[in-house]
Amino acid sequence: MSADLNIPQKHAVETLSGPLLVLAGAGSGKTRVVTFRVANLIRHGIRPDRILAVTFTNKAAHEMQERIGAQIGLKKAKRGQEPPPKPLIGTFHSICVGILRRHSRQLGFPEKFAIYDRGDQESLARGVLRELRLHDTMLKPSEFLSIVGRWKNAGVRPENATQSARTDKEHMSASGYRRYQKALKLAGAFDFDDLLLFTEQLLLEDPAVRQAEAGRFDHVLVDEYQDTNGSQYRIIKAIAEGHRNLCVVGDDDQSIYGWRGAEVTHILNFKRDWPEAVVVKLEANYRSTASILDMANRLIAFNQQRHDKILRPARSPGPPPRVLQFEDEGLEAEGVANEILKRLETERNLLPKDFAILFRTNEQPRAFETALRKAKLPYTLTGAQSFFDRKEVRDILSYLRVVDTPQDEIALLRIINTPPRGLGGKSVETLMNAAVTGGKPLFEILSDPQKVSSLPTGAQKGVRQLLDLFEHLKSLTESGSLVDMARTLLAETKYLSEISRNYDVPEEVEMRTSTVEETINAIAAYEAESGKPSLSGFLQSVALEGKEFGSPKEKQMQRNAISLMTFHSAKGLEFPIVYMVGMEEGILPHRRSLDDGEAGVDEERRLCYVGITRAQDELTLSLPLTRFKWGKPRTTFASRFLYEMTGQADNPNRVKAIEGAKKENRKAQAKKPKK
Ligand code: ATP
Ligand code: MG
Repeated sequence: MSADLNIPQKHAVETLSGPLLVLAGAGSGKTRVVTFRVANLIRHGIRPDRILAVTFTNKAAHEMQERIGAQIGLKKAKRGQEPPPKPLIGTFHSICVGILRRHSRQLGFPEKFAIYDRGDQESLARGVLRELRLHDTMLKPSEFLSIVGRWKNAGVRPENATQSARTDKEHMSASGYRRYQKALKLAGAFDFDDLLLFTEQLLLEDPAVRQAEAGRFDHVLVDEYQDTNGSQYRIIKAIAEGHRNLCVVGDDDQSIYGWRGAEVTHILNFKRDWPEAVVVKLEANYRSTASILDMANRLIAFNQQRHDKILRPARSPGPPPRVLQFEDEGLEAEGVANEILKRLETERNLLPKDFAILFRTNEQPRAFETALRKAKLPYTLTGAQSFFDRKEVRDILSYLRVVDTPQDEIALLRIINTPPRGLGGKSVETLMNAAVTGGKPLFEILSDPQKVSSLPTGAQKGVRQLLDLFEHLKSLTESGSLVDMARTLLAETKYLSEISRNYDVPEEVEMRTSTVEETINAIAAYEAESGKPSLSGFLQSVALEGKEFGSPKEKQMQRNAISLMTFHSAKGLEFPIVYMVGMEEGILPHRRSLDDGEAGVDEERRLCYVGITRAQDELTLSLPLTRFKWGKPRTTFASRFLYEMTGQADNPNRVKAIEGAKKENRKAQAKKPKK
């Protein structure tokens, strides 16, 4: 095995105890070190389940699990049997869910709590703002959530929010924050930020919990450590402080989550926290051709506040990266799609999965999706509407969520009258009012005959039907398989006939029916794969893995497809051929980052660096010369980063681009209503 490692990598893999820091540039084998080191620890007799490895995405966690499995022959769980011990590999969020499952009751949450994703959060926020009579024009749910998210990241609790509020919107949000947290608790739910915050609270404030949780592991490894935020940093510290066997790897030049509270000082000051740490530098990049790496190195040198390090190419030069220009963004998308199509047709050794199209903003992929569909090329889009966002999937999952956590109000409201059962808006409002006045979960009100008796007879019948259904489903989860339960759910709600009743177009009915079928398949796949399947386990996978958690058919399709993803989601990945599109001022660097002065632009430059360093063999940068804004074509300015990476920083057009972007930004600011 050590034949696949260079000397410093080997040093890191063979340092078996104590704190260890690997701080090194992109593609230098940091993730490889983590994987090999886990395998090496196991070879040296450490019990696999005493090792915790934290990765940044679920995809990375799966990949690592597979690679470690391949190295040391980890066995798969057989159905119905206790799975053989294996290392715990997961994202911060999934690890926190595990900790919370064991201790949520002492926080006043049910053991089977719900996890609210962005959609659920928005529904909840909408309700909270409505109660406060804050109309959409004053404060949108999304604005409210981003303000609350920022507070959560900065450790501002609801009771201190008013002091932290500066703008009108922040003041309005401060009063909403407290209610929002109350509503979450009443619903027995954590949002994504809370998964981290409550875990941190448990570990820091309760020595017994800390001892129990830290005591589960003898070794902790963290990948992408440069992007840890305050909570994540303190969680890791609490878990590893006892045994001090903590290995972190990362690259300060790839710190791209500052806007979400990540602090690069965590990795740069590692030695301060762990003075006895062994520090390993990796200086050879094995991923990219020399000419791609050259470009990346040249670009990142423009960042001012930088911990300088060496990154040498291990590969030969390869073809030089190209810059392509197109008339507008539609033609850019078509140009890229057609080029990929042509190459796939003529070069037999290339597969769709060898290509990635990377972009900065969520508005960009639409044109590319259209073009790829037209070219009949398979693609997967990371970060946009996922399988689990479709109506039918959300409906079925909402039923399952209520079975698991009856107080999950957002889920209950979604299906209370879907399919219709006589519980119209008025009846639901009456029930909701009773819930709010009594400070009780909605489900409890449904079960209270006195409260229900004030409803019209039809609605009363609907409530009884619903309660009977949940009673039945609950009994099935205790005895039978999840798939059977889900099938019963469809039969009893007549869900499929409801689809045929609602949609006239046969294709539409067929598509929606097959979505339902795929959901059942996803449940079946989960049951087959999981050693100990449970309803909570299934819902947890869905909540945490979202898009990456799909039915077998969906997964099969994704396995050999062109990747369409944001620079943020591409972190840690690599592709033979990469297109970075929309390389223009205002997109990359993003308009919003210009408000934060140099620090904002530096983070965008790191994002661009992450993009370039994803490419193994070929890199193409493209930009449209005009982009449509509100239906009108506007001339774009080439990104300052293009000039910097190609050694043309002195080009007067770079200065023009920067000035142009500033001017656009000022104009946009002036148009915005004052806060
Ligand atoms: P990033 O900063 O993007 O996360 P990284 O430092 O984690 O990158 P890896 O993904 O571990 O880098 O490795 C980059 C590529 O180089 C991978 O394809 C890996 O297999 C290969 N690689 C790493 N080390 C070696 C080595 N010693 N010999 C051959 N290939 C290597
Ligand atoms: Mg990596």
